[in-house]
Amino acid sequence: MKHQALRREIISACVGMNARGINQGTSGNISVRVEEGLLITPSGVPYDEMKPSDVVMMRLDGSHEGRLKPSSEWRFHTSILASRPEVGAVVHTHAMFATTIGCCGLDIPAVHYMIAATGGSRIPCVPYITYGTQELADAAVAALNGRSACLLANHGMIVLGPNLKKAMWLAVEVETLAAQYWRALQVGKPNILSEAQVQTVIEKFKTYGQQPEPAPGCC
Ligand code: 13P
Ligand code: ZN
Repeated sequence: MKHQALRREIISACVGMNARGINQGTSGNISVRVEEGLLITPSGVPYDEMKPSDVVMMRLDGSHEGRLKPSSEWRFHTSILASRPEVGAVVHTHAMFATTIGCCGLDIPAVHYMIAATGGSRIPCVPYITYGTQELADAAVAALNGRSACLLANHGMIVLGPNLKKAMWLAVEVETLAAQYWRALQVGKPNILSEAQVQTVIEKFKTYGQQPEPAPGCC
């Protein structure tokens, strides 16, 4: 079977999101772009029982191979991957704090500068739409325009990354932001950073951390 290592990586990310407390049960789903289309988690299969061969190979036109049904959310996974060529992985979870904020139909504002990691100064909340529908997929694609995270009202969150590792990291960051916003609301009126303050951080992030060595002879 093709993509064995990637299939294993998807399963360990699924087990990891439950173990880290950012999802529970068979909620949530993950897809990763491959040359044929995408690999996506099967619908309703407990993550600790999932085998590499259970991960479903799909094409962007919605057709799939194998005996297992793909995630019921395959429409938003294929719609996002089709419209965002720079995205390599899509992660959807029912994380507690992100879902709580979404249950109130609220966006997450710039309560902490780490919101810049999502590419914008707010994480928008898509109004409630039945799971698994093309209507939800279209609304998620619209909300994600130019950014890499959104909330789904009364449901959960979607995050995007160039690869699965970065998308999983962002899922934890979004849940952390949601928890900080929730806590700040208990204390009083959160101080919200301005658009300019967030844009400054987005610029700074381009050179954050250890930069790759310049190539020999370069610069
Ligand atoms: P699946 O098990 O079909 O992926 O559904 C879980 C989910 O979170 C639906 O929104
Ligand atoms: Zn869901």
